[in-house]
Amino acid sequence: MRIALENFTKKFGETTVIDNMSLTIDSGEMLALLGPSGCGKSTTLFAVCGIHRMDGGRLLFGERDVTTVPSQQRNVGVVFQNYALYPHMTVHENIAFPLKVRRENKADIDRKVQEIASLVQIGELMARRPVQLSGGQQQRVALARALVREPDILLLDEPLANLDAKLRLEMRSEIRRIQQETGITAVLVTHDQVEAMSMCDRIAIMKKGEIVQLSSPSEMYDNPSSDFVAGFLGNPP
Ligand code: ADP
Ligand code: MG
Repeated sequence: MRIALENFTKKFGETTVIDNMSLTIDSGEMLALLGPSGCGKSTTLFAVCGIHRMDGGRLLFGERDVTTVPSQQRNVGVVFQNYALYPHMTVHENIAFPLKVRRENKADIDRKVQEIASLVQIGELMARRPVQLSGGQQQRVALARALVREPDILLLDEPLANLDAKLRLEMRSEIRRIQQETGITAVLVTHDQVEAMSMCDRIAIMKKGEIVQLSSPSEMYDNPSSDFVAGFLGNPP
């Protein structure tokens, strides 16, 4: 689904952290929000999923204006850096949880959980609890739980930050594969330029609450619009 932020403004107290930002994520694309720590990436993501209310602007999911719609009534899948799995539940119960909340029937839930577990390749882990999983496996479960409800958009906030270097490489291509196989619209928040370049269709570079360049990875690398972008991509002028 196409997602559009129009003139988004966010303040904390007197401080404006996002000033009049507009951004469209095309249906089926994976877009990176890339920028240094504190530039407003997570704040933007939290507005899209409804954790933060917006102080100005509009948010559209397709044609639907969700600006003031509470987060439980938006169909959004989110994966955070720390995965936030429910420790007392099995893998199956973790993944099934969003569907139970929606009061779907057991047969439908079991079928959907099996389908997504097979896509994410965790079919053998269903009876385990989160403490019995590696970091990479926990992240796969978090992805499955985010995707099982077939969300309008998948939001990933620094999902690879807690993984060691080898797993991080593996999960980069795994997340991209899963995103492409499902055709889901996705936003990846990261401060890692290689991650953004290797995983995403387009990159929005943020600096102090503004998007300073938005283009494909190759276009951005070849034609950075400023020294800031060039320096951030590791390709200084
Ligand atoms: P990023 O994810 O790009 O590292 P954030 O979106 O978390 O950055 O933060 C953007 C700015 O907003 C930072 O200056 C941060 O200190 C501030 N900020 C974020 N959340 C809050 C909050 N709940 N209260 C006050 N200031 C916040
Ligand atoms: Mg952040």
